[in-house]
Amino acid sequence: MDAVVKSLLERPQPRPHISPLARPTREEAEAAVRVLLRWTGDDPSREGLRDTPKRVVKAYEEFFSGYQQDATSVLARVFEEVHGYDDMVLIREIPFSSHCEHHMVPFFGMAHVAYYPSEAGVAGLSKLARLVDIFAKRLQTQEALTAQIVGAIDGHLRPRGCAVMLEAQHMCMSMRGVRKHGAETVTTLFTGIFRDDPAEQIRFLTMLRGGK
Ligand SMILES: [Zn+2]
Repeated sequence: MDAVVKSLLERPQPRPHISPLARPTREEAEAAVRVLLRWTGDDPSREGLRDTPKRVVKAYEEFFSGYQQDATSVLARVFEEVHGYDDMVLIREIPFSSHCEHHMVPFFGMAHVAYYPSEAGVAGLSKLARLVDIFAKRLQTQEALTAQIVGAIDGHLRPRGCAVMLEAQHMCMSMRGVRKHGAETVTTLFTGIFRDDPAEQIRFLTMLRGGK
């Protein structure tokens, strides 16, 4: 897993905005949904489905709103005055939902994000939750999502180390294919002192499970 994720990190980060591909019009997108409705075997002109293409396209705007945002906009502002605080900052159980890029069906779960601040400063706590959302609201693999969150934190906050764990259920595993309901996929990526010192990984995991 580590090897897969690391090679993803070395690739150029995906562009935050849709380009150079031209975006289809709303009407074209709705027409495409009607084609898929017919593909299911149903009749897009029956009353219950008449407004479905409109609703689906609107839902897609929300599901994939991350393409219109980038990490810089949330992590550009850091707080340098933290009264000497230099220990781990951990935000656990950030709920997220995303869509797998292979089947365009949801995967969802919890993200846990930790870092050791450097002189560069700390980010507002809500910003890290927003960061997870920006990348989750795109077509993803769980591995790439994990790597992109780490990459953005490393790039913007220059922490002494970063640790991210994602725990998720994939609808493409539970509703189709192997149909394994409840199976959870866990990905982790460590950089800096988290990567270099196994004791820091244990501390991260202990704090993650603390109080449960
Ligand atoms: Zn899938």
